[in-house]
Amino acid sequence: NGFYYDVDFGDHSITEKELINIEKKFLDFAKQKFEFKMRSASKKEALDFYNKKENQYKIELIENLKDGTITFCDHADFTDLCKGGHIPHTGFIKAVKLLNVAGAYWRGDENNKQLTRIYGISFPKQKELTEYLELLEEAKKRDHRRLGKELELFTFSQKVGQGLPLWLPKGAALRERLEDFLKDAQKKAGYEQVISPHIGNKELYMTSGHYEKYGEDSFQPIETPAEGETFLLKPMNCPHHCEIYKARPWSYKELPKRYAEFGTVYRYEQSGELHGLTRVRGFTQDDAHIFCSESQIKDETEKFCNLLTEIYKDFGFEDIRIKFSDRPVKRAGDDSTWDQAEDSLLNAIKEAGYCYELNPGEGAFYGPKLEFILRDAIGREWQCGTLQVDFVLPQRLDASYVSENGEKKRPVMLHRAILGSFERFIGILLENNTGKLPNWLSPVQIVIVNVNDDVLQYSKEIKKTLTQSKLRCQIDIRNEKINYKIREHSNLKIPYILVLGKRELENRSVSVRVIGSTKVEEIKLEQFLKNIKSACSIP
Ligand code: ZN
Repeated sequence: NGFYYDVDFGDHSITEKELINIEKKFLDFAKQKFEFKMRSASKKEALDFYNKKENQYKIELIENLKDGTITFCDHADFTDLCKGGHIPHTGFIKAVKLLNVAGAYWRGDENNKQLTRIYGISFPKQKELTEYLELLEEAKKRDHRRLGKELELFTFSQKVGQGLPLWLPKGAALRERLEDFLKDAQKKAGYEQVISPHIGNKELYMTSGHYEKYGEDSFQPIETPAEGETFLLKPMNCPHHCEIYKARPWSYKELPKRYAEFGTVYRYEQSGELHGLTRVRGFTQDDAHIFCSESQIKDETEKFCNLLTEIYKDFGFEDIRIKFSDRPVKRAGDDSTWDQAEDSLLNAIKEAGYCYELNPGEGAFYGPKLEFILRDAIGREWQCGTLQVDFVLPQRLDASYVSENGEKKRPVMLHRAILGSFERFIGILLENNTGKLPNWLSPVQIVIVNVNDDVLQYSKEIKKTLTQSKLRCQIDIRNEKINYKIREHSNLKIPYILVLGKRELENRSVSVRVIGSTKVEEIKLEQFLKNIKSACSIP
């Protein structure tokens, strides 16, 4: 999805025109088919090279590298540090566009100098670049960061910290609605809700293997000098749920156990990687773990696929791809266990009638997995849901059940999420719908605006009736012009605006303006109440 290069231009700030000139230069060089030549050097050679050039940035990078060989790439008269991975020569570059310029602190540290970061993208064909630029324009109109602000859903504060979303009342209402909806669906599907803390003992993550994956590059451990304990912010809910499972012994007859939690986890993402709600440092997963026997994997997979597709449908996502990732080269567990897990997953999706694509060798080291990818209104793909089979964690944390023959056996752990995280999913949903959420999910479904104070009582009465019917309704009794009020609420993408004046009071009716239409239609109150309930319920 593009490239960037950080440059120290001194006091100069780069202009639009200069970017166009750089693009021209790219294509100029491309035509000359300069070869990319990789070459290794020792740390000393590399340092000498950049000392001559007085490039303090490269020197710092090299000094921080672990000892060993350093690789350079030469191309025409330009040389750069490079890990490699190249087209053979510049002639392969056919289409390139510099997209934008931003400030970027050297090594992401705000105490360092700010450099100019130039972002760009390249495609093998001009046609593909043109299509991408069109998509970018369309995406800009739907940017959830702008929509979130306009619709008063969420905000970020530098004082609280980057990548840590703050939910405003309407955003919190939206999330609550989502949570209730999922809780309900999962309860019906046999899940039990559990709650675990936001931190855990470092030892737990060392044993589970999560420290190895998330520890060193993440938020630093919290030390408690008084008792010498060390805690980590929770990067994953899995080990916590495993400990919940272990709170009592289980018989094979009681499996599967399905534990669900809206678990908030923290991961340290580089500041340059942060993006609105879709890339954050603290987020809440709709996580669940199913503890079952190997023979139950198939049935549980099928049930989960059905649950996920039903839920996606309610959001209007019907175009879903399933990727099946099988055993990687480096893996835990013996081949017969992998055979059974892979067969179970495959048979489950086949029997349930889903199509899938093979993603060979991309499974987790602890087991095969399914990825669920949805396509949004402008054709972008987002991986949200996942189901992963895990033989390793139950063993590492010593989880067990008693089998039919009275033997102690390891359960298999299925890690699964439907939305992925509430933050990211809400971001995707806002962009997909250009901010116009489905009625059932809308934090405010109806706004009542009164023409004047003569209908104040009537307005309040209707609000009370609607609220009693569990509809989310607001009333706007400000002394503003009626058209001003209507415009404001339609900008906030409220599904229904009810206009009440003298005529409506006399007729015991409401005048309704539905989002997306400029028509205002008078309907008898009784009829409206009947219509609105079904219009605002989950389809
Ligand atoms: Zn998990």
